[in-house]
Amino acid sequence: MQIGDLIRRAGRQFGAAPALIDGERVVTFAEFDELTDRLGTALLARGLAPGDRVAVLMPNGIDGVVVYYALAKSGLVRVPLNVRETPHEHAYKIEDSQARGLVHAGEAPAEVEIAIPADDLPALIAGAAPGPCDVRRDQDAPLRLAYTGGTTGRPKAVVLTTRSELAEVANFLVDLLPNLRPDSVMLHAAPITHGSGAFFLPHLVKGAANVIVPKFSPAAFLEAAQKHRATSTFVVPTMIAMLLEDPATAAASSSGALALERLCYGGAPIATTVLQRGIDVLGPVFAQLYGQAEAPLAITCLQPWEHTPERLTSAGKPYTFVEVDIRDAEGRSLGVDQVGEVLTRGPHTMDHYWRRPEATAETKEPDGWLHTGDIGRWDADGYLHLLDRRHDVIISGGFNVYPREVEDALLAHPAVVEAAVVGIPDEKWGERVTAAVVTRAEVGADEIRDFCAGRLAGFKRPRAVEIWPDLPTSPVGKSLRREVRDRMLSRKDA
Ligand code: AMP
Repeated sequence: MQIGDLIRRAGRQFGAAPALIDGERVVTFAEFDELTDRLGTALLARGLAPGDRVAVLMPNGIDGVVVYYALAKSGLVRVPLNVRETPHEHAYKIEDSQARGLVHAGEAPAEVEIAIPADDLPALIAGAAPGPCDVRRDQDAPLRLAYTGGTTGRPKAVVLTTRSELAEVANFLVDLLPNLRPDSVMLHAAPITHGSGAFFLPHLVKGAANVIVPKFSPAAFLEAAQKHRATSTFVVPTMIAMLLEDPATAAASSSGALALERLCYGGAPIATTVLQRGIDVLGPVFAQLYGQAEAPLAITCLQPWEHTPERLTSAGKPYTFVEVDIRDAEGRSLGVDQVGEVLTRGPHTMDHYWRRPEATAETKEPDGWLHTGDIGRWDADGYLHLLDRRHDVIISGGFNVYPREVEDALLAHPAVVEAAVVGIPDEKWGERVTAAVVTRAEVGADEIRDFCAGRLAGFKRPRAVEIWPDLPTSPVGKSLRREVRDRMLSRKDA
């Protein structure tokens, strides 16, 4: 089965029903099938060939979704770029993925052989030959590349295949969204390049509408949720905190204006106080998912009925068709309450890292078990509790920030000699990117922060830069960053 088969069948089964809604624009299932056929055909006619990577730099909206699934139908490999990153960051991913094509809203961040401004899409679609676009690819051939950072080295791409995508849909339908119906409505308020994008197909195959909001704000979320009677949504913990800060959320909920059945959240640890408040205000609709780019959104999940006070610190139980194991450094499976690394296996996991055989070998065992880099333990009832991340990744507002990337940007400043970047707990953002630097000349913290602005996406920029006389040298068993973080935290407690 191909991804295009799902779209074609939904087109036949649910023809005139709304498939995609964005503001006033509505695309029916039949239209979505036709638009993706035509655009797929047009992309091939422009000279792209099956297997070519095509970077997509488009904001949340219907056109982006049409591009994604046109690429699926035409055998092309999607490389989504996060609109919040800088042209510098986009250019790296375009080069690393060896993209031959680029579909872009706004300026093109790099030169590629076949660049298509988003404004040209309507004409391309209108001019394309009608009829199905149905390039069939091997189940294990790349379908999309998802970039993820690295504590060492530069971001690398996870290769996901048709097999992984279909398994991801199945995982969601079995465990997370078992009650989807044609009158279900998914609200995409988070970036579709990230977690939210995984919710399209499960809804589409069941005839449910996908409503897209260009950019998250509590007001935009609440307006769309009420107007379309959204039954499912996906948010990162920061968005839950923002919704709860707005009194309109409690008002909408208590007046019965919301129809949410599943408020899915994940991608980062959540403060139990925020979660409990969320349940108090929005009801027992919270479903947590724990996953990562390498195992897209499916390692464990915590169901709404499992959100009891003593379980709020848990990430839930393994999805039905996903294996999860906790192992010690020697690779032995651990039992209840023993702390080790979380490993997972299933058809949805990544095939490999794009052009990074060494990283692949470090992460994926020959028998398919994937090292998540997360540290956790099982409790006596089989629930997973995540304790730490093996690497020093910071998660701010649901986005991963890799300290190494931020440190590189800081070190590019001529006066900065040393830099350590850490995450400091923050109720709203989860963690706040904070830097300690050693400088060789008189320079203000503000100047260093401004310097980062041109080099790093907003969510990666240090919220605070502290100038220290020196940084701790790495003592045995403790990373330098850990030590810096401990010092910052102990000072804050004092
Ligand atoms: P990404 O690859 O960007 O999706 O980030 C994945 C990482 O986010 C995981 O390896 C975890 O460290 C963290 N993460 C994802 N979901 C959860 C969750 N529900 N609870 C705690 N941490 C999470």
